[in-house]
Amino acid sequence: MAERISRLGTETAFAVSAEANAWRALGHTVYPFHLGDMDLPTPENIVEAAFRAIRDGKTGYCPNAGIPELRAALADEISATHDLTYTPENVAVQPGGKPVIEKFLLTLMDPGDEVLYPSPGFPIYESQIEFLGGVAKPYGFVPGEKNFLLDFDAIEAAITPRTKLLIFNNLHNPTGAESSDEEISALAELALKHDLYVLSDEAYWDVRYSGRSRSIASLPGMAERTIILYTFSKKYAMTGWRLGGAIGPKDLIAHIATLNVNQESCTTHFIQWAGVEALTGEQSGPEEILGVLKARRDAAVDLLNDTPGVSCYRPEATFYLYPDVTGLMERKGLATYDELRRAALEQTGVSFCTRLHFGRALPGEQRRYVRFAYSGISAELIREGLGRFSEWAQ
Ligand code: PLP
Repeated sequence: MAERISRLGTETAFAVSAEANAWRALGHTVYPFHLGDMDLPTPENIVEAAFRAIRDGKTGYCPNAGIPELRAALADEISATHDLTYTPENVAVQPGGKPVIEKFLLTLMDPGDEVLYPSPGFPIYESQIEFLGGVAKPYGFVPGEKNFLLDFDAIEAAITPRTKLLIFNNLHNPTGAESSDEEISALAELALKHDLYVLSDEAYWDVRYSGRSRSIASLPGMAERTIILYTFSKKYAMTGWRLGGAIGPKDLIAHIATLNVNQESCTTHFIQWAGVEALTGEQSGPEEILGVLKARRDAAVDLLNDTPGVSCYRPEATFYLYPDVTGLMERKGLATYDELRRAALEQTGVSFCTRLHFGRALPGEQRRYVRFAYSGISAELIREGLGRFSEWAQ
């Protein structure tokens, strides 16, 4: 084995899924709050556009950076939502949002460079930084009045002359945290002051129930140093289609397009036509998806906050909840996250991920948190499952 393979991480949430499936196979009911996948269908107009593209022969290779129609549609979409002017040369289509993480690092990080990234956070950041020889520098969150706040002290303290990149996932997995204008401005100031390039992971940009999403790329001086991760996965319930994009400065996007040539040649041709329909066609599909998710959020937050020893914010974006379960673990005499997870699964059927599925615990971290995803479970089952969970806690 190559040495680097020992540094490759994974998404341990998939192991939770395997355990939940094994429990279900024994005949038990499982309430699946563990995976961030969606149980909702892709809107029909998008499905139809994919079939049409196959029938029209969009089945050969296509341009490495994406079909011009999709690059243009993405440039228009991001320009409109970010108050910026992007053209198709600012866009490299990708097979999902996830590949943007690796391609951002391959383009901008040398071995030994330090990269700031959120922990808890999407586990692929840490995996790819370390796999590619970078130095992973995690920053955390602190509880605020209505949601989690960035731990600015930790971010500032982690910056050294070797720090080159910042990964920022506003509308955050797993916490549901959303930064205020002040927080985003302060972060942009730090990036400018220390000459950091930024990956703005906007996977949940449109998964929001009120208000308006804001991007660090929109602040003065930032578009020049920011790559935006866009994905169709969540907004359009297209997780398995694998379609997304990198949007950023033209020179960086040209390198990312050359990585496309080297890695997958092109994103699946006919899927890209479905993406054009998603962006430019009928929008009732994503609106319906949001309505369903909002009802689930409300059901879940209410029940979690009725559960002794549990407290949970009501995030306006993402489909994740990140309740504090410190009190619950104390009540139940459970010392470790694994004990909590197994006890909940076996005694209530409720399955979820814990803080440790989203990175190593940071020094001084004392409160205990778990993540409930409500993208793959109906409101009815949320009520049933969290009702049992609450009774168990009592
Ligand atoms: N970034 C974050 C924060 C995510 O949660 C996810 C998926 O869960 C991704 C990126 C990757 O999305 P995709 O499914 O489009 O690869």
